[in-house]
Amino acid sequence: MQPESFLFTAFNRHYVRPELRRALEEVAEQMQIRHPGSVVWYLDANFPFIDGYPLEPHFSHKDGKKVDLAFFWNDAKSGKPMPGTPSPFGYGVCAEPLPGEYDYAADCDGRGFWYISLLKTLAEPFFNKENYTFDKEKTRELARLLAEHPSVGKVLIQPHLEKRLGLERYDKFRQHGCKAARHDDHFHVQL
Ligand SMILES: [Zn+2]
Repeated sequence: MQPESFLFTAFNRHYVRPELRRALEEVAEQMQIRHPGSVVWYLDANFPFIDGYPLEPHFSHKDGKKVDLAFFWNDAKSGKPMPGTPSPFGYGVCAEPLPGEYDYAADCDGRGFWYISLLKTLAEPFFNKENYTFDKEKTRELARLLAEHPSVGKVLIQPHLEKRLGLERYDKFRQHGCKAARHDDHFHVQL
């Protein structure tokens, strides 16, 4: 388990309650067994870009019970895992809806919630999406381990990924409201 960027620790946004820390360490250890060498990258919230924007779930990162975790990305050419995500600030690299999948963010955007994709818009100039592939298998494994951990109360994810990763049989996955940042670039995990 490592911070996705020094920013999250530099801004002192890496504190969680002992129970959440234990849960994350246990999940990270189980990831090691299934996918040796893999790192669980934690993000957080409250970094300067989003100050003043109504990104609701990040306001809830105040009580030590919440943490955001990155999805897994690979280098498209070498197939090797990326250290963290291709975004310079961790957020905004989305496993977007494929043709035929429900696009919740577009739905919200169409209803006037334009800021749902703000972090995606901010991140996109910094990387070429074609150079990276979404690691569905490892991301699914992380999601399952989180859902199966007794300390984890709920995990926010966008509906198309809940479906694509086959997570519908778990009762811990929720979709966020339109006032939230989109959640097809990270898991929001809480006790
Ligand atoms: Zn969050």
